[in-house]
Amino acid sequence: MAGLPHVKPLARLGVYLTDFLFPPRCAGCARAGSVFCDRCAQAVLPISGPICAHCGRPQPRDVGICFACQSGGREVFHLVRPATLYTHPLRSAIHGLKYAGQPELAELLARYLVAVAQQPLWQDVLPRIDWMLPVPLHPQRLAERGYNQSGLLAASAAKRLGLAYTDSLLLRSRQTRSQVGLSASERQQNVADAFVAGAGVADKCVLLVDDVLTTGATLTACAQALRLAGAVAVYGLVLSTPAPTTDGVLGDAPPS
Ligand SMILES: [Zn+2]
Ligand SMILES: [Zn+2]
Repeated sequence: MAGLPHVKPLARLGVYLTDFLFPPRCAGCARAGSVFCDRCAQAVLPISGPICAHCGRPQPRDVGICFACQSGGREVFHLVRPATLYTHPLRSAIHGLKYAGQPELAELLARYLVAVAQQPLWQDVLPRIDWMLPVPLHPQRLAERGYNQSGLLAASAAKRLGLAYTDSLLLRSRQTRSQVGLSASERQQNVADAFVAGAGVADKCVLLVDDVLTTGATLTACAQALRLAGAVAVYGLVLSTPAPTTDGVLGDAPPS
């Protein structure tokens, strides 16, 4: 037992040695030193210019409410805001978080969600939020990845915003194929009825968190499940969204 006090410094030495021999590399530029360097963090683009007043997605010109929101789904959401544009180096960081087994990126990336939630628009909303929760992964995907990237983002942001976090009140009840390459209506069909919410959301205001917003089909399907289970209001915060295109082509957001 006398040797135990020495275990901790030894373990710490192990971490130092590992960092020395295999320094963390930036997910944006591959420079050694940190998982997302300051230079890449400063290159992350916030949403600017005209946006849809409802879903917050950037628009080529001032439209008020975007075409997608006018076409439906708007009634299930009170408000959605993406935080950043889905461009390099953030795109690489999200890729690292989702596919390269780098959950430590979530803590750094959650800062962009927090920054949006601290804007004046949300001042009256945040005190009403009962639960902050992520778009869920199917249990099989969760087992493969080991974590839900949106859950890590939401948990980190919730902690910093002083909100309650849960990942047990909204579940993905069936596997869906990747949304990549699907049209807006195909995306809607693909995720329809894929989610089920627990009775714990009845009469509650919830804030949904996702990593990337393209058509909003996934968020809308989640919101529908939450409203069906009795949630009185559903809001959305999303880490990133592709820049607007003039030809109406959907961004190339990665699969969940
Ligand atoms: Zn970098
Ligand atoms: Zn919109």
